[in-house]
Amino acid sequence: MIADITMPPMFKAGIIIKCPVCGRDDELQLTADTSDTSETAAFVKCDAGHQWAEPRVTRRFAAEVCEMLAKNHPEVITWV
Ligand SMILES: [Zn+2]
Repeated sequence: MIADITMPPMFKAGIIIKCPVCGRDDELQLTADTSDTSETAAFVKCDAGHQWAEPRVTRRFAAEVCEMLAKNHPEVITWV
């Protein structure tokens, strides 16, 4: 299943993940495919509709976050 997850600000090694086009760093949506646990870059999109492959976030991480949030915070997940 594929889902868009509204994430809190995400940091990797102390550096915030932000949109490479407009610089937004909050309300970013992480796209997760629960059947894809590869180490490939996951897709992230911002409120302005920009989407990019974020090499610091793996699809495995996205799938794991999705599974956890589906149980605890289903309101942040939009199944697509
Ligand atoms: Zn943007």
